[in-house]
Amino acid sequence: MGNLIDGKIISEKIKEEVKKEIEFLRSKGIVPKLVSISVGENPASSVYINQQKKNCEKIGIDYEVLNLPENLTEDEICENIEKLNRDENITGIILQLPLPKGIDTRKVQSKISYLKDVEGVNPSNMGWIVYGRPYVGPCTALAVKEIIEYLNIDLYGKEVVMVGHSDIVGKPVALLLVDKFATVTICHIGTYDAGKLEEHVRRAEILIVAVGKANLIPGEWIKEKAIVIDVGINRVGDKIVGDVEFEKAKEKASWITPVPGGVGPVTTSILLRNTVLLAKLQKGV
Ligand code: NAP
Repeated sequence: MGNLIDGKIISEKIKEEVKKEIEFLRSKGIVPKLVSISVGENPASSVYINQQKKNCEKIGIDYEVLNLPENLTEDEICENIEKLNRDENITGIILQLPLPKGIDTRKVQSKISYLKDVEGVNPSNMGWIVYGRPYVGPCTALAVKEIIEYLNIDLYGKEVVMVGHSDIVGKPVALLLVDKFATVTICHIGTYDAGKLEEHVRRAEILIVAVGKANLIPGEWIKEKAIVIDVGINRVGDKIVGDVEFEKAKEKASWITPVPGGVGPVTTSILLRNTVLLAKLQKGV
């Protein structure tokens, strides 16, 4: 029976470190301030914004929301970002997604100064991951790395299978782990359509899944004693579940993240850590 990876414990550990850093910054008169840009109305992102605000304020980060009207052009959204980039009192910027239809998300994200890019989505911060020198990076990808480090797993030569190749999870996770000399296989829709997903998953010593499809990975596919990190978040009826068939997977894994309560809380804390790291970098501390 697998041990549960308690994301809340890892998250609290990160928060403790971040809190100390913020106390230090504040003692020097530096107050980290995060501005969250929201374009148009989106009920899902208002839940997210409220959570972020609560988490930031609790730890000593000022948090403000900039609500922009739905009908702004791409250039007008970018101008607002440039204004925040120039404001020395603002140390971090978050762009809430999704943006209205027709807006090029990646282009807009690339306008956020890499020094204020707390979500690690600017091409410059992504590029540092390719160079093997991540400073800030996409929060969920760093959360996966953090969990593996917390378990004290030596990745050298390990068979890692990453299911999902999104820009913010699958691709950066694969790069981060390859730099630790894991052998990383990336699976995606092509792997699934070719009927080869099972074959790859079955040999994973560390399996990471970030797709967004409930029960995509049957528990019986899990290799004995594998470590399973389930990033997926899916609503099934009134329950939130991951992408892995949890109850059966738990029987075979040595360690497994629950959903909710696994990767999610760690991701939240990484955002706080990114915010503080960038505030320090901007202020030369
Ligand atoms: P995404 O951008 O939609 O990417 C999903 C990936 O899964 C794509 O690479 C896609 O390939 C691949 N895929 C789709 N169907 C597949 C299949 N049947 N077999 C194998 N691969 C398949 O999603 P994301 O942003 O990475 O998020 C993934 C999941 O993680 C979602 O449930 C999201 O809610 C959750 N999430 C959780 C956290 C957290 O903190 N816990 C944070 C971020 C995201 P193609 O693009 O080729 O179709």
